[in-house]
Amino acid sequence: MTAPTPLIAGNWKMNGVAASLAEALATAAGLGETTTRVAICPPATLTDRAAAALKDTKVLVGGQDCRAETSGAFTGDVSAAMLADAGASLVILGHSERRAGYGETDALVAAKTSAALTAGLEPIVCVGETLDERKAGKALQIVTGQVRGSLPAELAGKAFSVAYEPVWAIGTGLTPSTAEIEEVHVAIRATLVEMFGDHGKTPAILYGGSVKPSNAAEILHAAEVGGALVGGASLKAEDFLAIIRAL
Ligand code: PEP
Repeated sequence: MTAPTPLIAGNWKMNGVAASLAEALATAAGLGETTTRVAICPPATLTDRAAAALKDTKVLVGGQDCRAETSGAFTGDVSAAMLADAGASLVILGHSERRAGYGETDALVAAKTSAALTAGLEPIVCVGETLDERKAGKALQIVTGQVRGSLPAELAGKAFSVAYEPVWAIGTGLTPSTAEIEEVHVAIRATLVEMFGDHGKTPAILYGGSVKPSNAAEILHAAEVGGALVGGASLKAEDFLAIIRAL
């Protein structure tokens, strides 16, 4: 059994133009000897330029979503192979903004995850409960159900990670308590082991939702937290580096 390799990934969402790559380069320049894997997921328009700019650095480039199909009449969409061709090595899938805004189901996320694997991309699959679901005491049931439904069997033996992102914590400044984070991460690990046997012990389980320099150390040292998916705070190298250094 290999211990999960920590990963800190920045999700730029629909933010960033060519000039913003200076922040990605500043992140790369500030990494020093870190053994943590670091990724930046810019908007698709910047994938190839980010990959070219970061080519000789330790920072990986990821996509924020991909289509499940490989090509065809899907105006505005991007396939996994296109992201890989543009220089991405990872892709975020099933982000709650896509689940809520585009009606993405667990089955669709699983299909996209399969497509990512076929294209040679490492998936970061997002799961997380809404505030109503948490208040109703259903957080564990919802999250473990999403893990079961969103991770296809082909992930067996492959590199991937799961990001636990409580919907109510994304972009709100709110975060669950450390005990709440640990409870969910431990449940995700148990589900991964149930699904993939010993291989289920290897994926990093990232926490995402209002991670910032001031709370990163406590969150990143919680049980079964193997890194973070960072939104707003990944846009500025200074903040992103402070989070990376907190691990
Ligand atoms: C995200 O969108 O994945 C995220 C975690 O956002 P933020 O860090 O801004 O809450």
